[in-house]
Amino acid sequence: ERKISDLGKVPRYARVNTLKAEVREVIEILKSEGWILKDKIISYEGFLDVVRGLSEDEFIVDFHLEYLLVFHSNTDFHDHELVKTGVILLQDKASCLSAVALNPKRGSQVIDACAAPGMKTTLLAALMENEGRIVAVDRSKERSQCLSKFVESTGSSCVEIVAMDFLKIQPNEYPDIKYILVDPSCSGSGIARRLGNEYGLEEKRDRLRKLSNFQSQILKHAFSFPNVKRVVYSTCSLHKEENELVVEDVLESVGDSFKVKATLKDWPTRGSEEFSFGCKCARASVESDLTNGFFICCFVRKKLNLK
Ligand code: SAM
Repeated sequence: ERKISDLGKVPRYARVNTLKAEVREVIEILKSEGWILKDKIISYEGFLDVVRGLSEDEFIVDFHLEYLLVFHSNTDFHDHELVKTGVILLQDKASCLSAVALNPKRGSQVIDACAAPGMKTTLLAALMENEGRIVAVDRSKERSQCLSKFVESTGSSCVEIVAMDFLKIQPNEYPDIKYILVDPSCSGSGIARRLGNEYGLEEKRDRLRKLSNFQSQILKHAFSFPNVKRVVYSTCSLHKEENELVVEDVLESVGDSFKVKATLKDWPTRGSEEFSFGCKCARASVESDLTNGFFICCFVRKKLNLK
C-alpha cells in the first residue's frame, strides 16, 4: 500500500459537523464500516509521522482539533452517506483554523465577509452551537446560492446570507457586530494541487499587486464597523504580498486602534520573521503541517488608555 509520504499530498481531512452528531458517534459508525482508528499521539511530530504512515483503511483524530478526522489522501468520501447528509464535511485542516482563531463565543454577532462556499461559516456556526448571529456575505450571486444550500444542509441555523459586495455594506447598520472574518479571494498558491502551476514572473507580479490591493481594501472595511473588537484575516496563499505585507499596509491606517494579537499559540508554524508581528501570525504548509498552505492574522481592538 502507498503511504502519504510517498505521494507529497495532503491527507483527507473530514470535519465532524457537531451541529448534527457527536464525534464519538461518527467514529463508531466508521469503525462499524471497517475503518481502523489509530491511537492518540502526544507529540505533534509523532502525530505527523503517524499521518504520513496511515494506510488506506486507517484514520486518526487530529492533534489540534478534536472534531477533525484524518485519513489517507486517496480516501474518497464524496459519496459517503455521512457526507451527503452534512454530518461530515470535507474541509482541510488549515481552512478550519481561521474560524478557530476568530473564536466567537456562543451568542456572538459575527460577519463572515467573504463567505462562499461556507466552509468557515459553518464551522463558526458549530463553534457557536448555533447561538447568536452570523451574517455571511458574498459578492457572487452564484456562489451565494451554493453557500445557502450548504448552510441549509449542515443545519447552520444561526446564519443569514447577504449576497452583496462587502465593501458596500454600511458598517453603521451593524452596530452589534463584534467579530469579523475576512477570507478574501487570493492567488490560492498554497493549495497543494495547484502548486507548481505558476504564472510568468511579470504576470504574477501584476496579479499579486491587484490581489493585495483588493485584500487590503476589504480588510480595512472590516475595521470600520463601529463595535468590532476582533478581526481575523486569512488566505490560502504562501506569498507575503498577500499576507504579511497586507497586514503591514493595513496597520499603517488602523494601527492606532487595532493591534495584531498572537493567534493559535500552540501552532508551531509562524509568519515571516522579517516583520515585527510575524511571530504572532500563523502559517501552515504541506511540508511542515501536512495541510494546504495558509496564513492567519488576528487583530484586536486596543483598549483605551485613559489616564
Ligand atoms: N471563506 C470561504 C470558505 O471557507 O468556504 C472561502 C472564501 S473564497 C477564498 C473568497 C470568496 O470571496 C469568494 O466566494 C468570492 O466570491 C468572495 N468575494 C470576493 N470579493 C468580495 C467582496 N468584495 N465582497 C464579498 N465577497 C467577495
